[in-house]
Amino acid sequence: MMKIGVIGAGVMGCGVAQSLAQSGLQVVLIDITEVRLDQAKAVIKNNLRFRTFFGSSSGSSEDSEVIMDRIRFSTTYHSLHDVSFVIENATESWEVKESIYKEIDPICNDACIFMVNTSCISITKIGALTNRADKVIGTHFMNPVPAKKTVEVIRGYHTSNECIASVEDLMGQMGKDIILVNDYPGFVSNRISHLFMNEAAFVVQDQVASPQEVDDIFKKCYGHTMGPLETADLIGLDTVVHSLNVLYESYQDSKFRCCPLLKKMVEAGLHGRKSGQGFYSY
Ligand code: NAD
Repeated sequence: MMKIGVIGAGVMGCGVAQSLAQSGLQVVLIDITEVRLDQAKAVIKNNLRFRTFFGSSSGSSEDSEVIMDRIRFSTTYHSLHDVSFVIENATESWEVKESIYKEIDPICNDACIFMVNTSCISITKIGALTNRADKVIGTHFMNPVPAKKTVEVIRGYHTSNECIASVEDLMGQMGKDIILVNDYPGFVSNRISHLFMNEAAFVVQDQVASPQEVDDIFKKCYGHTMGPLETADLIGLDTVVHSLNVLYESYQDSKFRCCPLLKKMVEAGLHGRKSGQGFYSY
């Protein structure tokens, strides 16, 4: 049976591993410490318990234990030697991703496809770290992964059509559709949405309105399901700040400069939903 390596067991890695396992695929989920992996195990178990409540694009009604049994937890990249795909969901930092791709490229077999789950980092730049740029592709999953049916897929400069077809196939097995776009930092989704979220933080910093009022304008006036600050809390404010920094450095454009309030909240440990406090309390 096909085995998939999932690197990073945070918000996205847990969702990706759960979604794959629900689709009947074998998964090895990797993070840097056992503590992280224990947390991930607890999160996935809990999410599986409530999966019918939150909805799922891979509509498995199997017992949670059967699904959990498909996920193996590991702290070493050597468990990736026989996987067909790696889906990397580590921290949104160039240095972190750079070291991972340099390490896993010689471990994985030549046919293995690297799927980069990043908010903003260039797929072409990641491809250049490896000897398989034709098999490196961006897969920007939406959060929460098991509930979101569509994935923004990014073609790097050297990504081959065969690689795109294989990834579309895998996504099909996961019950997901793709929208294929070309590679520029932030792609479509985050190049636009991070301007919204950042400017919403500036509005709160300037005391124009409260977070609730900002979000209500988007929900009640524009008909969005979530406001920009609720979205930032869901993503994780640390990840939003990392992404804005990547966009700022990539485009050298001041429109992406990170709002000081966002930076201060992250420094204070207010990371949004995952830490229990962001623009809202959870
Ligand atoms: P997170 O902070 O919740 O989790 C990141 C995980 O990566 C942590 O568990 C960390 O320990 C692990 N990690 C760090 N270095 C590692 C290494 N060398 N090897 C293995 N694991 C390592 O972040 P997240 O929100 O899950 O985001 C992960 C990636 O997905 C980022 O690139 C982010 O931009 C992208 N993304 C996030 C969202 C979102 O809504 N949060 C949506 C789409 C894409």
